[in-house]
Amino acid sequence: MHANPMIKSVTIVGGGTAGWMTAALLSKLLLGRFDITLIESEEIGTIGVGEATIPAIKVFNQFLDLNETEFIRATQGTFKLGIEFVNWRDKGHSYIHGFGKIGSDLMWLHTHQFWLKMHEKGEVRDFDHYALNTLACRMNRFRPRQPNEPPPMADFDYAYHFDASLYARYLSKQAQGRGVKRIEGRITKVELRAEDGYIDHVVLQSGETVGGDLFIDCSGMRGLLIGDALGVGYEDWNHWLLNDRAWAVPCERATVLTPYTRSMAHGCGWQWRIPLQHRTGNGHVFSSSHMGDDEAASILLKNLDGKALADPRLVKFRPGKRHRAFEKNCVAIGLAGGFLEPLESTSIHLIQTGILRLLALFPGQSFDPRDIAEYNAQTDFEYRDVRDFIIAHYKVTDREDTPYWAYLKHMDIPESLTQRLDLCRSSARFFKHSAAELFHEESWVQVLLGQGLRPRYDPMVDMIPEDDIRAHLKDIEEVIAEYAAKLPTHGDYIERYCKAP
Ligand code: FAD
Repeated sequence: MHANPMIKSVTIVGGGTAGWMTAALLSKLLLGRFDITLIESEEIGTIGVGEATIPAIKVFNQFLDLNETEFIRATQGTFKLGIEFVNWRDKGHSYIHGFGKIGSDLMWLHTHQFWLKMHEKGEVRDFDHYALNTLACRMNRFRPRQPNEPPPMADFDYAYHFDASLYARYLSKQAQGRGVKRIEGRITKVELRAEDGYIDHVVLQSGETVGGDLFIDCSGMRGLLIGDALGVGYEDWNHWLLNDRAWAVPCERATVLTPYTRSMAHGCGWQWRIPLQHRTGNGHVFSSSHMGDDEAASILLKNLDGKALADPRLVKFRPGKRHRAFEKNCVAIGLAGGFLEPLESTSIHLIQTGILRLLALFPGQSFDPRDIAEYNAQTDFEYRDVRDFIIAHYKVTDREDTPYWAYLKHMDIPESLTQRLDLCRSSARFFKHSAAELFHEESWVQVLLGQGLRPRYDPMVDMIPEDDIRAHLKDIEEVIAEYAAKLPTHGDYIERYCKAP
């Protein structure tokens, strides 16, 4: 029985991470209420990158009732406690953006305020020692927290690294098991209804046609439905986010399985390193206006842990977003809707929020323009919010050693980010203006301090006697060190509980 008289069938175009995440969640939550069809083309393939995530993915996996251990095994996955940024502030410097909470607060004042005061006096160790996530990264330690554990374990958080093609396969098996119909074939035409310009059906190379009431465009950067067929344009953010290409290559895995993604800045971009059980994923993201493809590939190959397991593959992209993600009877999810570079592993998260938003604003008796406008406004906010956080990594730096870094350091930035940086410089204060902002104060603090912003501490800190501050920071440092030392190594934890067959 169909609960909704208007939407009886949902057609998903594309079977990459976006397509299969959408199919898996819709089939799980709307089971039986709609016919769901997914069309993918093996000949075209998927982008084949996108292997680092942020903690919210655990919520998505819980919606799907995935067993964590089974999921890690099936995707050759590892755990991710944060990102190490090497050479970002300056060559030779490294800091960690860890998930989870930093230290503990005194009244409304956060740990970084005390740290800043004592740092001016030269009395503290570096910031990595005041959060369990960051120290555990430095020590290669991991285990998940148990329910009801006290701090600092209660503040310990994590995400995953996984093989993107295995994740899509895993979700595809689940979704098809719940009745999602998969069609293999290349779409050659998208037919619109004459009366209102809505998508009526798509035509495959074989001549087969597939209709639908609601279409979800997960066709990747091309945006086959949202862009090519419906003509929704693209807002280009290349003037703030210079990188527009990446070489990607897997290599042999290193002996030590690190529980974090590494981002190593180079002269005109940066290189990712994502440790998986069966291999390490690597890529050099760079600006094609500042560096040639051959030079970028050679830098990547010179900085691998072990032997490359394939030839490097070039991926081109345009940082930015669609003007509207929801247009007529089509919603773009994944790369079809936009792409901000992979620096903070936010793309898979934006897929997740795109699907949940669709559920929250699911069309009722009609495609209500008010629902569509709300969907687009929320999506727009989210992309701009993530964009600002990513731009901050480039703007706040001591590097000026190449024209690329000099441009980034001195470029004009969005007003929204200028205000945030100004407030931080004056008193190290951060505020979330909306619950929809993705990154918490902890993330901004770690990244901005790590990038070399040197703010004044909050003057209210001077209310607290210096000896109390000293004792408070010492206590945090000791407790964190004690707990980190008790954690098993990440490699041992995987070997014991989640080793892939
Ligand atoms: P795709 O994987 O491109 O899938 C498109 C699908 O559409 C395919 O199945 C294709 O066959 C199908 N298709 C296209 N045209 C047709 C047609 N004509 N007929 C039939 N089928 C068609 N995200 C993260 O969260 N973390 C990361 O670490 C990360 N790293 C990245 C690094 C780089 C360099 C890039 C470019 C992206 C990265 N991303 C990352 C983003 C991530 O890769 C994507 O968000 C994710 O893979 C989703 O892609 P997709 O499913 O939208 O598109």
